Amino acid sequence: MTEIYDHALLRGPMDIACPRCGGRAVFSTRHDKALPVTVRRADGTILTDNRDGQVGCTACGHAASHTLDWPGQAWFQVEYRGQVLWAKDRAMMTEIRRFIAAGADRNAIGKTSEWWRYLLRIPAIFLSARARDPILRKIDKRLA
Ligand SMILES: [Zn+2]
Repeated sequence: MTEIYDHALLRGPMDIACPRCGGRAVFSTRHDKALPVTVRRADGTILTDNRDGQVGCTACGHAASHTLDWPGQAWFQVEYRGQVLWAKDRAMMTEIRRFIAAGADRNAIGKTSEWWRYLLRIPAIFLSARARDPILRKIDKRLA
């Protein structure tokens, strides 16, 4: 799941679990760039696959530089049969819910959604008829 639709998607602000208190925090990328980025350090060395940014938590006040672990730190994630379905924020999770709930009408929804490129790449395991109800219940719990 991670590799399938992360590119150009991991752009701040994203909802993550606060590294200090475990509550809902917001992660921002530098210069609003999508992660991962390639960074040239002051000494000239090149770092690829850089996932640094800033985290801010209103629950505990934690505010610091942070290296993102994705989707491990995603606030909006549901597990189904060992796979993780994730979203970067509430809007995306809501749209994934709408897509999964649509059943046979999914393609029509996908094409009208700003998230359609990602919706259409959601792995089949999350889209089966059998998976629908348990996954929708888990998503609803997370969105509550
Ligand atoms: Zn916190």
